[in-house]
Amino acid sequence: MQTTDSSTQATADSGRDGSAFIIEAEHLGKTYGSQPALIDVTVRVPPGTIGLLGPNGAGKSTFIKCLLNLETPTTGTARVLGRDIRAANRASRESVGYSPEQDCHIAGMAGCEYVTYCGQLSGMPMAIARQRTHEILDLVGMGQERYRTVDTYSTGMRQRIKLAQALVHDPKVIFLDEPTNGLDPSGREHILKLIGSLRRDLGISVVMSSHLLRDIERVCDRVIIIGHGRMLEHDSIAALKSRHRRIVEIAPTSARDRFVSALGESGAKVTQLSNGRLRVESDSDSIEWILQLMRARGLPPAEIVANPDALHEMFIQSISNAVPAAPPPLPAADGRQS
Ligand code: ADP
Repeated sequence: MQTTDSSTQATADSGRDGSAFIIEAEHLGKTYGSQPALIDVTVRVPPGTIGLLGPNGAGKSTFIKCLLNLETPTTGTARVLGRDIRAANRASRESVGYSPEQDCHIAGMAGCEYVTYCGQLSGMPMAIARQRTHEILDLVGMGQERYRTVDTYSTGMRQRIKLAQALVHDPKVIFLDEPTNGLDPSGREHILKLIGSLRRDLGISVVMSSHLLRDIERVCDRVIIIGHGRMLEHDSIAALKSRHRRIVEIAPTSARDRFVSALGESGAKVTQLSNGRLRVESDSDSIEWILQLMRARGLPPAEIVANPDALHEMFIQSISNAVPAAPPPLPAADGRQS
């Protein structure tokens, strides 16, 4: 379990309803049958654009569904915008939007009818919902297609209509589950731009799940990394990047073994990479100590590069270090659990 408290940032940037955190979860967990999908998540998330990052099956959707009271947690408690998720009511629906991973439209309904209907479900009077639908459909870039039935839409249009129905009632926070799934590069670019503008232009916090680091990095200011149902990291992207900036790679032209022993003796952690480079982790942000070491040991010249993709490395490492949940016990031959 990992606990993070971002109270400093939250105080400076509180939600539109005044709550300091959009999500507060304590020991939140969900088990399907005997298989844990979400394990002991404790986190407090300030308003902003937050990425839920993890490979498929990591537990991202389960986390979102528990927060939205669409699934009942097996353990723990949580609050969204300061409201206990177990007390979800009309007021909570009015302040929260949700775009699920799967299509959620109603067959036979035109795009604009469907979004209007979703607005009404969230408590808007018909006339206001209709007017707001057209504003939102303009915002997400839907033209005359809005009058066609959603069944005829391309994947890109379906993602946009899902976003529109999540936004129509002017929520304070929206949860988007894999909003770029199935999109081609230009569709992806368009939707990411739009998501990036929601907090900046409309003050809406966004919680967006994705298995793609580049999508999260592109639009989010914070990230929660989830692997095997556990929260592995939670921080601002800038802080995560700077935390991992202390990794450099060295490409020795010769005397690789001498580099390894000299660096190791100096207390740095050295990993030999398959491309011939050495990855060096140290406490220092500067490479001056490496240059001094090379001079003192008479080592040959070598190229030294700051790790170009530190966040990606960190993502891969935290996922691979995560311990999978214990498999359910096998039944013994006589039917008892072993
Ligand atoms: P992600 O969104 O990161 O892809 P999910 O939250 O959908 O992950 O799934 C996490 C784990 O829970 C997976 O092993 C998945 O198979 C399992 N799971 C999700 N929903 C259900 C369900 N309704 N019944 C049983 N297992 C489920």
